Amino acid sequence: MKIIMLGAPGAGKGTQAKMIAEKYKIPHISTGDIFRANIKEGTELGKEAKSYMDKGALVPDELTVKILLDRVAKDDCKNGYVLDGFPRTIPQAEVLEEALNKLGDKVDYAIDVDVPDENIVRRMGGRRACVTCGATYHIEHVPPKQEGICDKCGSELILRDDDKPETVSKRLKVYHEQTQPLIDFYTKKGILKTVDGTVDMMDVFAAITDILG
Ligand code: ADP
Ligand code: AMP
Repeated sequence: MKIIMLGAPGAGKGTQAKMIAEKYKIPHISTGDIFRANIKEGTELGKEAKSYMDKGALVPDELTVKILLDRVAKDDCKNGYVLDGFPRTIPQAEVLEEALNKLGDKVDYAIDVDVPDENIVRRMGGRRACVTCGATYHIEHVPPKQEGICDKCGSELILRDDDKPETVSKRLKVYHEQTQPLIDFYTKKGILKTVDGTVDMMDVFAAITDILG
């Protein structure tokens, strides 16, 4: 099963993608996580990606597409995957479609986690991410057991630089201009499913599993 998660930054794509990956035993692939891992390791790719991410801009398609195609070619992707944060532009979606076409394959579902902009700004300010394992929390909705400490690995939790309010509004603008057109793109392909992302995360997940079966 090949699934794409769509939705504004902070809509809950990562939260849901992790649960989908666990239930359906497929890898969760987040281009944002791949970039952040590269930034942490200080690679050339990380340095280049950071310059865009810090501004709330998208990393150029050429870079992003290569990383994604390399990742989905790995063995663990044979039975499918859930993509979180990719595609984010029409050209990215077209490259993915073409690569899958060549293999006689296709995306099965594009799930749009729908959350209005007002809620997004509140959510992002409360998101905390683990510096080591990438686990995410929310200071009100999903607090860690001990403030500022990751439940899973004991490392420090931080507010991502790009979750600061001034960058969030830029990211929302970029989302509406460059990513939202994908809703139309996948509607036309007949695979778009929309879920209400404003409800409790377990209720969002229930709506998704109703779709995926
Ligand atoms: P995305 O991957 O779309 O950027 P995340 O999954 O990281 O979004 O979620 C953004 C923030 O909102 C996180 O702090 C997360 O814990 C919180 N969150 C996710 N889903 C919900 C929900 N249904 N209700 C309230 N908060 C949520
Ligand atoms: P995310 O963790 O998905 O919120 O992504 C964080 C940041 O990484 C984004 O704001 C972009 O700068 C960059 N990024 C992640 N995925 C992509 C993508 N598919 N295309 C371009 N930039 C991306």
